[in-house]
Amino acid sequence: MTDTSHLPGPRLDLWEWQLWGSCRGRDTELFFHPEGERGLNRSNRERAAKAVCAGCPVRRECRAHALAAREPYGVWGGLAEHEREAIVGRTTASAAAS
Ligand code: SF4
Repeated sequence: MTDTSHLPGPRLDLWEWQLWGSCRGRDTELFFHPEGERGLNRSNRERAAKAVCAGCPVRRECRAHALAAREPYGVWGGLAEHEREAIVGRTTASAAAS
């Protein structure tokens, strides 16, 4: 079962930013990789998704959500999965060291 304890609560104001995302109405396959996608296809798709995120008015909120919720898949706030993993890993390591 998925652990949702780190997700924000159900209050509308915590999620309202999603109404203003530049990805709204776009094909989700641009942001989430299909089964088995690798290499150049994957980097090209991620680059195209990040270009959409670059002009998004709620990029900061989206990125903060994805990092806090530890979204495991997709491009969120201009960050791909491996980039979020690196940030969360650094944050966790520095918290453990202090
Ligand atoms: S930052 Fe990217 S993924 Fe997040 S809402 Fe905007 S366009 Fe969508």
